[in-house]
Amino acid sequence: MSDANDIVIEAWNTVLFDKFFRFRHLVVDGLSAHSNEALARHPYPQGSRVLDIGCGFGDSTRLIASRLGPGGAAVGVDCAANFIELASREAKELGPANASFFVADAQSDEVDYESPFTLVVAVALSAQATDVSVNKATAKLFDVADTPQKMLALGEAGLKPFISSIGLYNTKAKNVIALSRILIEQYGGEVPLDRLKLQALPGVGRKTASVVLNELRIEPAIAVDTHVFRVSHRLGLADGKTPDQVEAQLMALVPELYLTRAHHWLILHGRYVCTARRPQCEACPVADLCPSRHLFVSPR
Ligand code: SF4
Repeated sequence: MSDANDIVIEAWNTVLFDKFFRFRHLVVDGLSAHSNEALARHPYPQGSRVLDIGCGFGDSTRLIASRLGPGGAAVGVDCAANFIELASREAKELGPANASFFVADAQSDEVDYESPFTLVVAVALSAQATDVSVNKATAKLFDVADTPQKMLALGEAGLKPFISSIGLYNTKAKNVIALSRILIEQYGGEVPLDRLKLQALPGVGRKTASVVLNELRIEPAIAVDTHVFRVSHRLGLADGKTPDQVEAQLMALVPELYLTRAHHWLILHGRYVCTARRPQCEACPVADLCPSRHLFVSPR
């Protein structure tokens, strides 16, 4: 491959990330103000496609859609089916509108935590489980055991009832107690914020360590789960056969500015837009840059 091609490919990917993440910022900035006036004033580039996450009854989405001009579209996403149903009905009654809505799976974006210890435990519990189920369990668990000392005192038998709704809870209970003991005996009750030491803890693999280090802003990392793996392949950002290979490719590709949030945003994109079975290509903000779009959208 020639140098010229390398440059073109890199530029293409940078454009994609820039566009992808600028679009996120645009939505987040608007909503963080919790103000429809701010959304109405925002200078949306002509033809923008905007994803309005947590759109509720869709007022903000319709407002944004009315500002986008020809070629623009706003998609509202919410976890609550009744919000979306009403928003869709009202949008239809208003006639042709460039706003549409869909329901996301009822998952929050991240596990809840209050300290490095509760973060490590929550992320370790979340393997092959939804963040919602983990947050439900840890809300009660961390009331009684939010330090390694209290967790060890609780013991495996005491811990299990708190996490019995989470898959693989027997193994996870054993690991959480074992890692609490190691933290006390080897690290003075503190979580070591070092990749190798973290990965050596029971039940903490590379992915868990990446999430913890990235979340605490210690080391940018892109933990590759099923969403990140799929989205990266579809977008042509990576072609690695394993999560580790994809992670290395993404780390080399993602602009530094976006490194700490890339994992989170790629997951959101996979959960809400580029879903496994029926990707929402018509509403996708990067569809014009996506080499896989033709696989899901038939030409008109
Ligand atoms: S265009 Fe479709 S396949 Fe490509 S990233 Fe968007 S939703 Fe996924």
